[in-house]
Amino acid sequence: MKRVLVTGGAGFLGSHLCERLLDQGHEVLCIDNFYTGARRNVAHLLTNPRFELMRHDVTFPLFVEVDEIYNLACPASPIHYQYDPVQTTKTSVHGAINMLGLAKRRRAKIFQASTSEVYGDPTVHPQPEEYWGNVNPIGYRSCYDEGKRCAETLFFDYRRQHNLRIKVARIFNTYGPRMHPNDGRVVSNFVVQALKGESITLYGEGNQTRSFCYVDDLVEGFLRFMATGDEVTGPINLGNPGEFTIRELAEIVIDLTGSKSKIEFRPLPQDDPMQRQPIIDKAKEHLGWEPKVPLREGLKKTIAYFDDLIRSDADLAQPNGV
Ligand code: NAD
Ligand code: UDP
Repeated sequence: MKRVLVTGGAGFLGSHLCERLLDQGHEVLCIDNFYTGARRNVAHLLTNPRFELMRHDVTFPLFVEVDEIYNLACPASPIHYQYDPVQTTKTSVHGAINMLGLAKRRRAKIFQASTSEVYGDPTVHPQPEEYWGNVNPIGYRSCYDEGKRCAETLFFDYRRQHNLRIKVARIFNTYGPRMHPNDGRVVSNFVVQALKGESITLYGEGNQTRSFCYVDDLVEGFLRFMATGDEVTGPINLGNPGEFTIRELAEIVIDLTGSKSKIEFRPLPQDDPMQRQPIIDKAKEHLGWEPKVPLREGLKKTIAYFDDLIRSDADLAQPNGV
């Protein structure tokens, strides 16, 4: 049994990770400032004596005794990270410094939730880890992209300078239950719109592509990565290589929900990447990992979650911080 810290643990990915770590018998300290996450995501874990929830902002130092750290704290959807871009960069950069400082004091292994956004609007397709990216440093997405890039720099400098045990994962678009219904991400938007019979908002012509990974597959990848030997530092791409146009996604969601929603075209947001697909050879080689859940299967579970949420009349407004 280990004592494991999960920052951003009340968010979408963090809550699933906390659940899996508890299932494995570990003690979990979940910290979150509830900016985009919610207590309801971890409410079912609160009765577990091995689970502790603490309100804390990672831009401030934290002194706790833990053996492993998963650093997930950061708003992840474009509308959320662009709402307060200065705070987004601070969360990525100061948050990384604080968590790396904690890892150094504790000699703890530390995992970083990096992102495919470090590749920007990629000119190399699909994306291998060796690709350095095509990132606008001064655009609307830069607070997130550059913040995450700087965090990666810090992780590798702490490795070289202090011999820290680091695990840097570049996560590609992931979806599933507990995404925030108003986070503006494409899967949650389309599913909620379809279930409510509202227009499906397709940005641009819908020819841009993304590769969607189901949350359970992704979390399995996190756990396998953390369990690797110290020489496996990453960066390692984690995502599902199945590539779909956004228009295809809209059609699949309409089909699976049996919705009468029509597609409504909207302007493409600035710096919206045209294509994204991970090469996952490194994950296969070092983690023996590849995603198993096909898009339609994962979407069925996600649709069931949002259907319940909408029926339960839960407060679907923007999360606390936004
Ligand atoms: P999320 O918004 O649901 O979760 C982020 C969590 O971090 C929230 O609970 C939020 O309240 C918390 N948080 C934000 N700022 C904080 C701060 N300063 N201090 C403490 N907590 C803070 O998003 P998610 O999809 O679960 O993403 C989790 C991590 O994975 C993020 O770092 C994100 O960049 C990364 N990621 C996610 C995806 C994806 O497709 N979901 C893709 C690439 C990378
Ligand atoms: N998108 C869309 N309609 C929506 C929300 C998003 O067409 O209602 C598009 C968006 O322009 C982008 C893709 O879907 O091309 C994925 O967007 P998301 O915000 O989920 O993730 P990211 O752009 O960060 O990959």
